[in-house]
Amino acid sequence: MANRFVVFTDLDGTLLDAETYSFQAAQPALEKLKKKQVPVVLCTSKTRAETEVIARQLDLKHPFIVENGGAIFISPGYFTPEQLKNSGYKPKRKGNYLVIELGLPYRQLRQFLVNMRKSFPLKVKGFGDCRPEEIARITGLSLGEARLAARREYDEPCQLEDSAQIRLLRQKAREAGLKVVRGGRFIHLTGNNDKGRAVRILKKLYRRKFGQIISLGLGDAANDWPMLKEVELPVLVARPDGQPVVLKKLPENIYKTKKAGPAGWTEAVNYWLKSGQLEV
Ligand SMILES: [Mg+2]
Repeated sequence: MANRFVVFTDLDGTLLDAETYSFQAAQPALEKLKKKQVPVVLCTSKTRAETEVIARQLDLKHPFIVENGGAIFISPGYFTPEQLKNSGYKPKRKGNYLVIELGLPYRQLRQFLVNMRKSFPLKVKGFGDCRPEEIARITGLSLGEARLAARREYDEPCQLEDSAQIRLLRQKAREAGLKVVRGGRFIHLTGNNDKGRAVRILKKLYRRKFGQIISLGLGDAANDWPMLKEVELPVLVARPDGQPVVLKKLPENIYKTKKAGPAGWTEAVNYWLKSGQLEV
């Protein structure tokens, strides 16, 4: 039996345009993958509320990973109970989903930030300090979308007034068992989770579902690095400003797109389809 393929993709700056959040330029490649019944798993720092809307627009019913690997949301029945069993994680029922939670509760992250501001002269502002109007202004999202972005469960996007303070924030976070990671637009405070760990769990589940799989991963920023290390076919999508992200030790076979955002997404999927490795 031929290998089955699974695609893991970041959203902002990768499948979605960094400025307009449009996925239009990725449509041709998405259609091809849909015809071949290749699962496309969204793997983002966005919240569940935001990711649900995008999954619906894309007509995707596959599991998705939110808030930098904070949790995996799976529709009941997508994997059988046998496939889920022994995954090492017991999914919880939450609303319409089965959820594998890997992150820490949001209020714990907020408490850390508040403490940091009290104990150090650290000028850091998170989404939790902003009204939706302000989130809309700094992200370019609509007010409605900004409200969904504010519904955080496992990850706090922040901005530092003095970017040199990232070292102090990072060190203190580490001491508290937390992590600071750079996304395309913000730095993110999370528990000890990342996109890579979530992808590893889903790959295991897909192997139970399909047998052998080959996975393709697409991202544009440092927070995608753990995901790109976990996939067989990694893709670094170009940024609109042409500035490459500085990532340590890129995988040898990484494909770097020439085009930015969703146009680069299509470019990379076509590249792998043409390579013959994505035969299904
Ligand atoms: Mg991104």
